Amino acid sequence: MARRFIVKNEDINVLENNNINIRGPEVKHIQVLRHNVEDSIIVNENIYKIVSIGKDNIDLEYIKKAPQIGIPTSNITLYIGFLKSEKMDFLVQKSVEIGVKKIVPFFSKNVVVKLDEKARDKRREKLQKIADEACKQCGRMDTVQVEEFLDFKKLKSALNEEKVFFAYEASKDSLRNEIIDLKERKINNVGIIIGAEGGFAIQEAEELNSFKNVCCVSLGDRILRAETAAIKLLSIIIYEMEE
Ligand code: SAH
Repeated sequence: MARRFIVKNEDINVLENNNINIRGPEVKHIQVLRHNVEDSIIVNENIYKIVSIGKDNIDLEYIKKAPQIGIPTSNITLYIGFLKSEKMDFLVQKSVEIGVKKIVPFFSKNVVVKLDEKARDKRREKLQKIADEACKQCGRMDTVQVEEFLDFKKLKSALNEEKVFFAYEASKDSLRNEIIDLKERKINNVGIIIGAEGGFAIQEAEELNSFKNVCCVSLGDRILRAETAAIKLLSIIIYEMEE
């Protein structure tokens, strides 16, 4: 199959007949790979033929939709307390492979990482790139959005999925019962909340737990690292939703 490139919407100019002109970092990438006029490539979810290659932009003729492979049938959003650098990179990559649809990093009381606004933008761009690369590498034909980082207050109003699993080590509630509920109600729109290295302050945990759509679950009596907890819970839920 043709090689795939992921181009941000702001770098795409839509022309007549679904043809497009693209700019930005993937243009360089396409040039470095020595693609020529007439080559077929995939940009985001469509197949195109290269019409002309300029210095900083490329004209593409729309051919057809790319085969819809590797796209999760479940709709899972991962809310993750901001982890220290490589751990965050690692978790973004792994959760894309496993099948998350959207990643929302957040800052709660015990998050150690501190980022000012400018640093947040830069960090988000890097994480988005990791997510894009992971989509390409694992052969999923959709994209996974790394959303703007939220402060805890905003996180609370963002939790609008039908059912949100909040992993909390102090919980006594069984995950099994909540999975049964998920399947009985045929829910397809799920959130997962995992705390950062320092976990949640009690008050924060109580607040999350007070939402009607949030269920607080234990992942067993061992305390897992945040990234382990995220991968464990995500894997269990996606398995149950997509089997
Ligand atoms: N508060 C803790 C541990 C944080 S572990 C401390 O500092 O000692 C990081 C995150 O992983 C937690 O916020 C929780 O979301 C998840 N987690 C880890 N182990 C878990 C378990 N046994 N059950 C549920 N969630 C767990």
